[in-house]
Amino acid sequence: MRNKSVISEARQIDLAVALIRLGARLAVLEAETSLSRERLLKLYKEVAGKSPSKGMLPFSTDWFVTWRPNLHSSIFIDIHRFLTRHASVGGIEAIIKAYQLYLEHIQVHGLERVLSLTRAWSLVRFFDAKMLTTIPCTQCQGHFIVHVLDLHQHYVCGMCNMPSRAGQTKNEALAVCGELAARDARHHSTKRSSGKTAAVTG
Ligand SMILES: [Zn+2]
Repeated sequence: MRNKSVISEARQIDLAVALIRLGARLAVLEAETSLSRERLLKLYKEVAGKSPSKGMLPFSTDWFVTWRPNLHSSIFIDIHRFLTRHASVGGIEAIIKAYQLYLEHIQVHGLERVLSLTRAWSLVRFFDAKMLTTIPCTQCQGHFIVHVLDLHQHYVCGMCNMPSRAGQTKNEALAVCGELAARDARHHSTKRSSGKTAAVTG
């Protein structure tokens, strides 16, 4: 029994370290691990080399439907959905994995990180609470985040209906949105074939 609890504590520490490295706020660590606040604070200082920033978690769903955050959040939730449906991962593990894949994606396209781990974590909670959902754009067929209670007939996404100030952001939107459309196509082909989970990293 004693050994078992040491192993379980080691796992909790591993999880906390992974979350701290990805930039999670203390509130996320407290919600997702069974470690005490004191231990988490100590761990945070050791791993991040500084004290965690104070402040509330984002409570509003509105940020996720504004133009730039919407593109980034939609990519993240699409990856997350794929992982939970096809790769048998869930909970915080799925959030970490999806967030790492999101970071890889923006790195490949030379984009700035818009979505923080804490925001991504909140986003999944908003989906679980059925406050946010995704719907397909009628023009590009990519799936984008919307408020559940809004009306979305003939929905057109932020890239297909881009503000004229575009420029660099246009390239960003193309990178994000093009990927979403490609992913959706891949989801369907994956469903049809063997259900291989490796496809998500591609
Ligand atoms: Zn579109």
